[in-house]
Amino acid sequence: MRMILVGPPGAGKGTQAARLVERLHITHISSGDMLRAAVKEGTAMGQAADGYMKAGQLVPDDVVIGMILERIAKPDCANGFMLDGFPRTIPQAEALDAALAKAGVTLDRVLMIEVPDALLVERGVGRRNDPETGKIYHLKFDPPPAEVVPRLVHRKDDTEEAITKRLTYYHEWTAPILPLYQAKGILRTVDGVGTPDEVTARVTAALAQ
Ligand code: ADP
Ligand code: ADP
Repeated sequence: MRMILVGPPGAGKGTQAARLVERLHITHISSGDMLRAAVKEGTAMGQAADGYMKAGQLVPDDVVIGMILERIAKPDCANGFMLDGFPRTIPQAEALDAALAKAGVTLDRVLMIEVPDALLVERGVGRRNDPETGKIYHLKFDPPPAEVVPRLVHRKDDTEEAITKRLTYYHEWTAPILPLYQAKGILRTVDGVGTPDEVTARVTAALAQ
């Protein structure tokens, strides 16, 4: 299975991806996680991306496209992959298409998780990440166990201001990629409002269609 998860910031892509990849035995590739790792390591790519990310802006296409195409060519993606957070623009979607065509493979599914904007700021502001396990928590909706709380990280771009900016970019730049996949008949849309378990059930059903 080669698939893409799309949705606005805070829709639950990372949360659902963690549950799905275990079951599907495919590799989870989060462009945001890869970029944050590059920033932490201080690589040239990380230094180029840092300012954009803090401000909630998109990192330039050439940087992200190079990073992802290199990643999906690795052997652990031969059985399939789940892209989370990429593509986010039409040039990114076109570059992915061209690379997959060249490799002689196709995308099976594009899964869009739909959540109204009004709910997304609260989801983002309350998000906390565990750097040791990679687990995603929410202070209200998925409270972390007391013993992990001291090590949890609150992302620099999970402020109301940066989330609002990311939402604007989502509507302007990312939503327009959806018709490309609709035209190929591989787009499935699920309602992302409800408990994470309810959303997982919908996602599983949508993938089977
Ligand atoms: P969220 O799902 O909360 O928006 P991500 O972890 O996917 O967050 O992305 C965090 C930030 O990383 C984005 O705001 C953007 O700056 C950068 N980023 C991630 N993926 C891409 C991409 N495909 N294209 C451009 N920038 C990206
Ligand atoms: P994304 O990867 O799309 O940006 P995340 O999976 O990181 O989104 O989820 C954003 C925040 O919302 C996290 O704090 C997560 O715990 C929480 N969350 C995820 N799914 C749900 C849900 N169905 N209901 C309420 N909160 C959720």
